[in-house]
Amino acid sequence: MIANDATHMTAVYRMVEYKMYYLSTRNNKLRIRTMDAIKQGISQEGGLFVPETIPKLANRDFLEMADMDYRSRAFKVLSPFLTDYNPGDLKKIIDAAYGKDNFDCPDIAPVIKLDNNLFIQELWHGPTYAFKDMALQILPHLMTYAVSNTDEDKEIVILVATSGDTGKAALEGFRDVNGTQIIVFYPDEGVSTIQKLQMVTQQGENVHVAAVKGNFDDTQTGVKAIFTDDSYNKLLEERGKRFSSANSINWGRLVPQIVYYVSAYTDLLKNNDLAPGEKFNVVVPTGNFGNILAAYYAKNMGVPIDKLICASNRNNILTDFIKTGIYDTRRDFYKTISPSMDILISSNLERLLFELCGRQDRQIRMWMRELNETGRYKLDEESLNMLQSILWGGSADEEQTLKAIWDTYRQYKYIIDPHTAVGKWVYDEYREETGDTQKTILVSTASPFKFPGDVLKAIKDMEYIQGKDDFQVLEALASASGMKIPPGLMDLKYKPILHQTTLDAGNMRQVISNFLELDG
Ligand SMILES: *Cc1c(COP(=O)(O)O)cnc(C)c1O
Repeated sequence: MIANDATHMTAVYRMVEYKMYYLSTRNNKLRIRTMDAIKQGISQEGGLFVPETIPKLANRDFLEMADMDYRSRAFKVLSPFLTDYNPGDLKKIIDAAYGKDNFDCPDIAPVIKLDNNLFIQELWHGPTYAFKDMALQILPHLMTYAVSNTDEDKEIVILVATSGDTGKAALEGFRDVNGTQIIVFYPDEGVSTIQKLQMVTQQGENVHVAAVKGNFDDTQTGVKAIFTDDSYNKLLEERGKRFSSANSINWGRLVPQIVYYVSAYTDLLKNNDLAPGEKFNVVVPTGNFGNILAAYYAKNMGVPIDKLICASNRNNILTDFIKTGIYDTRRDFYKTISPSMDILISSNLERLLFELCGRQDRQIRMWMRELNETGRYKLDEESLNMLQSILWGGSADEEQTLKAIWDTYRQYKYIIDPHTAVGKWVYDEYREETGDTQKTILVSTASPFKFPGDVLKAIKDMEYIQGKDDFQVLEALASASGMKIPPGLMDLKYKPILHQTTLDAGNMRQVISNFLELDG
């Protein structure tokens, strides 16, 4: 097709008012609007919403975006997915989410060049210092817009299971947002001290926080069961409320994450670190598979990403899965120094599998039923080959993670947090095993100040931190690194504890009913 025709086609395409619809990974006949997908969070039959088509960006779009700021890039990426949002309103939403009140760096997601091959994209300049802010600063706006534009008369109750960072980012995003309540469950032994303090000191009229006995998978499984519990949802409806999700199962969480991959690529184009169309790899420290899935969508939109390198910690179920095609949860669960990646059931993998098997909902229902009933499932040969052509998987244990922090500091005078360090270790392993020297972006998912004890242990030594409390450790890290302590973390020392509920996973419904005063 010649260029003129293509332009003409695009024009016609626009004239017939192209609208994006969403289907479910477990029901591919479903066709719902974006606003409903975001409001609902998860599909009724337990599947995840996926866009009917993936919009494409061309070389000239990327070149044009190279000169834009983050907000304009975001508009360009988000608008073809969010066709029911009025463009003027979407611009306002983006401005409100990615402004200087919320992010401490004007580039929002800056890319740092460590050497000619390796770049780090810092995704932690938002209010809670982890990458979850990239999506959770905008999701409440998308959600409330959806509520007020779809004759919804119910109060939205955001139910969150967190491995540490989502909880705080969601609380910050939704606090005192009209027409919403937010309830966050975190595993009592599964989050870092700072992460826990960030949540239990949360202020706001509409916020509720509780600790669940057990690990993140217990918490996430409990929350997912509530989303699909018909009778409990009916009770809620009778009281004028409706559940939604701020976890990365919500499409409104995933779609903003695509933006920063596009943004990173256009930054590299702008600085002539990549030629237009030149391929590069991305390394993603992975837990629930949301972040790396966003990179997969970016690739499908046309960003020339070659390999998606999936980095796991000692809970390396994904590494094994990518190597063998067998997803097997019947294994020990480890608590690690990268707690936001301590996950055995990576929910968003379901969306990738849906694409790999040619969008066959029947196949997804079979695999997920097997997972539920036996704790494992196995891909067919064809799907496995597809998986391996897209992903490369590796993992780092605790010692390797600390070593990666030390090595990065020694080599580049740059300090990374333990999650990012898992990624760095796996990147080195990937290069060594494959000999691939293409340029690579490692996404940095948290500020090192969120995990100051382990970072300091890596760059100094154990004795250096002994006898210091968490806040003394923060100060020691600041003086060792020459970086400033993020103000919101230092303040934690003086904030009152406002949330003290602890429960067994089996009692979630009761606790929710108490929070929402359903029985009263
Ligand atoms: C949530 C989180 C991850 C894992 O991201 P997924 O999207 O769940 O794969 C990695 N690092 C940090 C710091 C996180 O908060």
